[in-house]
Amino acid sequence: MFIGHYAAGFAIKRKAPDIPLWLIFISVQFVDILAFTLILLGVEKISYNPTDNPFLRTSIDYVPYSHSLFYSVIFAVFAYSLFQHTRTHKWGVALSIGVISHWFLDAIVHVKDLPLFLNTHKVGLGLWRLPMTAFVFELSLLVIAAIYFLPGIEKKRLHILTICFLAGGFFAMFLAPEQEATPQMASIASLTLYTIVTALAYFTERKKR
Ligand SMILES: [Zn+2]
Repeated sequence: MFIGHYAAGFAIKRKAPDIPLWLIFISVQFVDILAFTLILLGVEKISYNPTDNPFLRTSIDYVPYSHSLFYSVIFAVFAYSLFQHTRTHKWGVALSIGVISHWFLDAIVHVKDLPLFLNTHKVGLGLWRLPMTAFVFELSLLVIAAIYFLPGIEKKRLHILTICFLAGGFFAMFLAPEQEATPQMASIASLTLYTIVTALAYFTERKKR
């Protein structure tokens, strides 16, 4: 899943407004940030799959550490203990929900490539097989989250800019012509996008003060 993870981020921000949005964004994308880093290091593996379906162009071959439910739970527990220790119980709960939300949102769209334990027992409801439905579904998640999140927020326009950037990037990805991308290219492009979105969240809130 792509922008749907940020929808979860906006929902968490509404419930825990004192946690910086950039940190919440890192929590909801932690699993993908780890995956693309491990791909660059040669530990996990994806490959190019030639298809008309923009969601299935990346075949997820070997992601036992970043995308298994087992490790996602461990990362969520780690996030909880880290932030309840250094901040508060609420920070721990909110950021661990952010981390674990990634796996469950991915499970809706992924084809059976999400392992439950290491590289075994792979699951996925496969919504990506219906690209138009998956596209509308993910965009709806972002719109619903925006409607839920924006009331009562200062500097709405800056947040709307972040939301438009996410939606625009998603449109571009969906409509992009088929083109082979190496795992390295895909990883660097994804990590760059996550960095831009995280920076946008940071500067949006920084200007508030
Ligand atoms: Zn993912």
